[in-house]
Amino acid sequence: ISDMAAQRVAEDVARGTKQTARVRVAVRLRPYMHMQDQKGEGACVRRLDTKTLEIINWRNATETLQYQFDVFHGEETTQQEVFLSSVKPILPHLLKGQNASVFAYGPTGAGKTHTMLGSQEQPGVIPRAVRGVFNLVKAKEREHEGWDYSIGMSYLEIYNEKVLDLLSPSAQDLPIRENKDRNILIPGLTHTPLSSFSNFHSHFIPASLNRTTASTKLNQRSSRSHAILLIKVVRTQRNPPHRQQTGKLYLVDLAGSEDNRRTGNEGIRLKESGAINLSLFTLSKVVDSLNAGGGGRVPYRDSKLTRLLQDSLGGSSHSVMITNIAPEYTYYFETFTALNFAAKSKQIVNKPFIRETVTVPSVQVKRSREEQEAGRSGEP
Ligand code: ADP
Ligand code: MG
Repeated sequence: ISDMAAQRVAEDVARGTKQTARVRVAVRLRPYMHMQDQKGEGACVRRLDTKTLEIINWRNATETLQYQFDVFHGEETTQQEVFLSSVKPILPHLLKGQNASVFAYGPTGAGKTHTMLGSQEQPGVIPRAVRGVFNLVKAKEREHEGWDYSIGMSYLEIYNEKVLDLLSPSAQDLPIRENKDRNILIPGLTHTPLSSFSNFHSHFIPASLNRTTASTKLNQRSSRSHAILLIKVVRTQRNPPHRQQTGKLYLVDLAGSEDNRRTGNEGIRLKESGAINLSLFTLSKVVDSLNAGGGGRVPYRDSKLTRLLQDSLGGSSHSVMITNIAPEYTYYFETFTALNFAAKSKQIVNKPFIRETVTVPSVQVKRSREEQEAGRSGEP
């Protein structure tokens, strides 16, 4: 009997690991922008419910494609809602020595930086998460459980398969190492202790502005590099044996997922694109492999990005990928590619995509939808 019980426990543990190893996939649609739609074609994507969207099928306009994800954030979704549903729930794990990662994926112009960084008026995932970590630590300290906490940050970039420090910029490519406990380390990377949220702000904002300024000079570097913010929470037991645990949170604004080879880049730009594609391409293979379960080989070692994230993606860590998409036709193929990467399931539905934004003013659209719904539920 005890053998059977042990077997059951082992199975539960295996199932548990498999579940937590999954990467949750959220998709966020940014609002329609007239600027991005010179032909005035309207939107080609819209929300159906909290998990599902539909997109026109370009092969056959009498059909739409419906995609399902763990969560779908429609264009009206606020920064606070994205944070609450996709990021806040993973933060408490950091204080128990577990790792987590949040990625913004998608083509350039679809809202990755808006989602991660946001603006002064609409702060994104990064400032909210860092504030959240400080609040959790404060609450723990009030509980007097006998642990001391410290919070610190590193900020780096992977550009052209090189690992570069954004807190003390130099052109030096930093090595990625693994210690005997299978933790990934970057010797030489600046680690800045943080005393408060405003302290974080004063280190992070100049560094991220540096990156943006460099990007306009250097051929939109920001769309070709992965910006990676690491928040480390270390807790130490006050009394012997003074156990110590470290939780790492990676907040990643990925390079644009568009295929740069198609836009006719040449020379060095082609090389950059190829390198970016290597890290992004490997990331999608890693996510696929984790989400398929089955315990097959996960190709972490095939790129710098996935190597760096090896101890914070899969295993017992908590990961979420926010795939950003844009509604305009200009983005159609990039959206389609990003969705096929992100989707849990896809279905072709035999019904035309009605271009409501172009043919009917939005107020009328709302009313006619309400009427339809009222009709369906049998109300007058
Ligand atoms: P990416 O980083 O993916 O290239 P950005 O975050 O720079 O894209 O977004 C492109 C533009 O769209 C920016 O002007 C940004 O402010 C705007 N934008 C993106 N997402 C939203 C959103 N959810 N609400 C309002 N504006 C958005
Ligand atoms: Mg960006």
